[in-house]
Amino acid sequence: MGIATGVAGGVVWAALSPESQLFGRTLVALRHPTEIALTFDDGPNPKVTPQLLEVLSRANVKATFFLIGGFVKQCPGLVREIAAAGHLVGNHTMTHPWLAWQSKSRIREELSGASAAIEDVLGTPVQFFRAPHGARRPAVLRIVHELGMIPVQWNVICNDWSPIGVDGIMRRATQGVEQNRIRGFGTNLVLHDGGHTGLGADRMDTVRVTERLLERYAEMKFVRVDAWVDGAA
Ligand SMILES: [Zn+2]
Repeated sequence: MGIATGVAGGVVWAALSPESQLFGRTLVALRHPTEIALTFDDGPNPKVTPQLLEVLSRANVKATFFLIGGFVKQCPGLVREIAAAGHLVGNHTMTHPWLAWQSKSRIREELSGASAAIEDVLGTPVQFFRAPHGARRPAVLRIVHELGMIPVQWNVICNDWSPIGVDGIMRRATQGVEQNRIRGFGTNLVLHDGGHTGLGADRMDTVRVTERLLERYAEMKFVRVDAWVDGAA
């Protein structure tokens, strides 16, 4: 698996700080402007995830879900449903802390705990990780790699956790997609089907936005983030 494919292979890696290059790279997107990876953080969430799965299934689109380990333990059946529908499941830590402020042992605990929780339910190793709040530092990236995972960032975020409504979220999402297309990049869009402070957060606007994005970009190719590593061509 060509993790370090680099720009020559068409993979775009984040380099937001010198540290991110020195201590490990982060997957963002391919230089395929017609591709979109829908990624959903902070689930599973029994109030929202089932409706989201329904919307994705109607469009026959596979997405990526970065799950919080604590919620995985509370909703194992829902995690199995996500995976059974063909979506990719990734690690979003056990309790969603700001990793920038944590000790190395706490970081390791957060990451390995969430992987263990997911693997207990699905029986397959977890290969992708997204840091809560996007907070990365060398120690985090090093531990991600040690645990055999690839860190994943995003290139479009649309504040779907804020009360800005479907139109507000859509405006940010479409601006981001268009900007990426103009720059020649695929879109790695982060949305939220849960809230990290507890199960049951209302993210129905995110479900409606997803439905609208699937219609609006029906001519584009929706991919899971692993398509940009294993299937890079
Ligand atoms: Zn999160």
